[in-house]
Amino acid sequence: MMQLTPSRVDALLAQQRAFFATGKTRSRDFRHAQLLRLLQAIETHESDIMAALQADLGKPAFEAYATELSAKQEIRHARKHLKRWMQPQKFAVPKTLQLSTAQSCPEPLGVVLLISPWNYPFQLGMMPLVGAIAAGNCAILKPSELSPHTAAVLTRVISATFEADYIAAIEGGVDTSQALLAQKFDHIFFTGSTQVGRIVMQAAAKQLTPVTLELGGKSPCVVDADVNLTVAARRIAWGKFMNAGQTCIAPDYLLVDSKIKPAFLAALRQTLQQFYGDDPQRSPDFARIISDRHYQRLTTLISGDVVIGGETDAGDRYIAPTVINNATADHPAMQDEIFGPILPVLDYDALDDAIAFINQRPKPLAAYVFSHNRAVQARMQQETSSGGLCINETMTHFGVTEMPFGGVGDSGIGAYHGKASFDRFSHYKGVLRKPFWLDLPLRYPPYGDKLKVLKKLM
Ligand code: NAD
Repeated sequence: MMQLTPSRVDALLAQQRAFFATGKTRSRDFRHAQLLRLLQAIETHESDIMAALQADLGKPAFEAYATELSAKQEIRHARKHLKRWMQPQKFAVPKTLQLSTAQSCPEPLGVVLLISPWNYPFQLGMMPLVGAIAAGNCAILKPSELSPHTAAVLTRVISATFEADYIAAIEGGVDTSQALLAQKFDHIFFTGSTQVGRIVMQAAAKQLTPVTLELGGKSPCVVDADVNLTVAARRIAWGKFMNAGQTCIAPDYLLVDSKIKPAFLAALRQTLQQFYGDDPQRSPDFARIISDRHYQRLTTLISGDVVIGGETDAGDRYIAPTVINNATADHPAMQDEIFGPILPVLDYDALDDAIAFINQRPKPLAAYVFSHNRAVQARMQQETSSGGLCINETMTHFGVTEMPFGGVGDSGIGAYHGKASFDRFSHYKGVLRKPFWLDLPLRYPPYGDKLKVLKKLM
C-alpha cells in the first residue's frame, strides 16, 4: 500500500507534472495503448475484483459483473471513438475575420484527482479514470476506505499497469483525501455524498481548481394508477434492492397513486418473495451493508407501518428488504438519502401533489415514473428536475454509455460517461489561425472615417 505523507504527495504530484510536461500523454496512440493495458489488467484481475466485492459488500457475482465490470465497456467505447473525440471542431468566422480559420481543439487538463465512494467501489473509480486517460491526463485516484478489499485490488490493478508518475492510486481515508485536496490539481472529480461534496468544493475553491461533483440525494419514484403492476413492482424492487439499496440512483422513496397502492404492495411482496425467497438473509443474491456505522444508521430508520421485511442481524450487517407503508414527510426515512434496503411508500390522490412534493425538495440525482399514460410521463419530464429520468424503468439510464450522466442542483455538478467523460477532462481551446499575406488596414488606427465601412460589415 502506498503510504501518504505530505512530502510523498508533493513528490508524486511533481513527478506527474513532469511526466505530463513530456507531452507523452497527448498522442492518440499513447492513450489508446494505455486504455488497452487497463482493459487487459482488469481482465487479468477479474476474479480478484469479484472476490473483493464479495468481501466488502457481499456483492453477488451477477451484480458485480453487470454493474462494476461494466467499466470494461466504457474502455472499449473510449478506444473506439477516441479518434473522433480528439478531432478539432471547426467554426465559421465573421466577415471581419475572413481568411482566418477557427477551431476548438480539445487538450488535456494536466494532473487530475479522482475521489471515489464505496458502494460501486470498482466501477466508480474506473469510469472517471477512463475519461481522464482518454483525454490525455495524468491522474491520482483515491478509492474509499470503507471498501478496503476493493480499494486494495484497484490499487494493485493500477500499480501493475502504470508507472506512478502517470497514473497512481492511493489508499486512505478522510486524512488522505484532505491531504490530496490541499494540493493544486487541474481538476477534481469527486463521487460521494452531497455533504462531503461541499467540503471538496471548498477545498477546490482555495486553489481555484474546477470540480465535477457526482453526488446523491433522495430519488423519487412515482407509480401512476395506469401501470402494469407486476412489471413495475419488479423493476422497482430490482432498482431498490440491488446492492442492498446502496446505490446512488436507487429509488429512494415511492409516491404511489392511492387507488392502486394495496395492489401495488401485494405485487411488491410477491416480487420480493420471487427474488430472494422466504428468508432473504439466506439468498446468495442479496448484498450486505458496508459498515457497522451504516448498519446502525439504517436500523434507526425502520419504524412505523413496516409491511414487508424489517428483520435485521447486526453480526451479519444484514437488513431485510424492508417496505414502510403510509410513510409521511416527517418519517425518519424521509429526512436524508436512505442508501440502504428500506423503501418508504407515500401515496397521492392527484399527480399535482406528487409533483409538488418532489419540487419542494432538493433536486435529486434520478427520478422515476411508471405509467402507460403519455401525459403523466410528459408531466414528470417537464415539471420536475433531476439528474436523470427513467420512464417505466429504474437505474438503467446509467448504462447508456454515450448518454451524459450526472446530477443537478444538490445532486451534482457536471456529467460524464462516453464522450461526456472525455469532455470533462479536456479543455476546449479556441484556436484562430491567419496567414500573413493579406493585412487590410481597416482595423488599425488612425480610424478616420473607417467606422462607416465597419458598420456595413457588422
Ligand atoms: P462519502 O462522501 O462519505 O465519501 C466519498 C469519498 O470521500 C471517500 O473516498 C472518502 O474517503 C472521502 N471523504 C469522506 N469524508 C471526507 C472529508 N470530510 N473530506 C475529504 N474527503 C472525504 O460518500 P460514500 O459514503 O462513500 O458514498 C455514498 C454517497 O455517494 C451517497 O450520497 C451516494 O448517493 C453518492 N454516490 C453518488 C454517485 C453518483 O454517481 N452521483 C455514485 C455513487 C455514490
